[in-house]
Amino acid sequence: MKSALVTGGAGFIGSHIVDALIDDGFTVSIVDNLATGKERNINPSAHFYKIDIRDEKLSDVFDREKPDIVFHLAAQMDVRKSVEDPSYDADVNVRGAINLLENSKRTGVEKLLFSSTGGAIYGEPETFPVKEDHPIRPLSPYGLTKFVFENYLGLYERLYGFKYTVLRYPNVYGPRQDPHGEAGVVAIFSQQMLTGVQPKIFGDGNKTRDYVFIEDIVKANMICIEKGEGEILNLGWGKEVKDIEIFEAVRDAVGANVEPFFAEPRLGEIERISLDASKAEKIIGWKPTIPLKEGVRRAVEFYRNLLAK
Ligand code: NAD
Repeated sequence: MKSALVTGGAGFIGSHIVDALIDDGFTVSIVDNLATGKERNINPSAHFYKIDIRDEKLSDVFDREKPDIVFHLAAQMDVRKSVEDPSYDADVNVRGAINLLENSKRTGVEKLLFSSTGGAIYGEPETFPVKEDHPIRPLSPYGLTKFVFENYLGLYERLYGFKYTVLRYPNVYGPRQDPHGEAGVVAIFSQQMLTGVQPKIFGDGNKTRDYVFIEDIVKANMICIEKGEGEILNLGWGKEVKDIEIFEAVRDAVGANVEPFFAEPRLGEIERISLDASKAEKIIGWKPTIPLKEGVRRAVEFYRNLLAK
């Protein structure tokens, strides 16, 4: 039986990857300091270590669990916080990630899959949808530190033959996303509309993002256990969805009758993005399958049930 270690496995995306790995017969360990993750997301069949990826005790986890494969999702992922506190952002996203990488190399991990960002790495795109070879000009420390760690992976491949795949995510949405966080508008709007709070849109409603449902993102990760070695792959529909359109999609699913109010745009956030995932289709045979309407319906259903508890 294979063994996998998932950092950030108590978080939104990580916990779904943990579930899929366990369903697939993997022995799974989770490293998460619960900064934003939730205990209720933790699969009871996984071995949970409440520790920070920057902690030197991470080496004990590796010695004990001896993972064959590592999924790295733990991150400081709040764009605004990265602008306010770039040192903390770099400490977690670079120094913490290097601690993980060093332990992976030391214990002979076969492969590391890194959850990077397509939304924050390219900056304001020159062409749409954005391909992987687009210039990298992030507008936030968060986008930059993700790119730095991508480059560490390339370096470790050159120096030590270390194997990896980088997945650059679009806006991922679905059940378990934290509605109290700074990102994740589907979660935030759902929670607000279901509790009668008027949602706020930063900017004029015309900002765009590319939204992919969690199930499709988990599939890409599972495929990359065997495929995509040494590759950097965008995931996305290649379609721009305006803030106002996502607002309307959530409103339809909730059945609410509410208008948003508009606030000042936030520093560090780009105006428009969509990601071209044709390379992922060619190399790992992945493309998204769950349409926005269906994904939003499932997400709203989850928040409705959560609030009813
Ligand atoms: P999340 O906040 O739900 O998950 C992150 C997890 O990492 C949390 O459980 C948190 O407690 C943990 N964590 C944070 N700092 C840690 C530390 N120092 N040590 C140990 N654990 C720590 O967020 P998510 O949406 O599931 O994002 C997962 C990954 O995907 C992140 O790396 C993020 O940058 C990336 N990503 C997400 C999106 C998205 O749309 N959600 C888009 C692009 C990239």
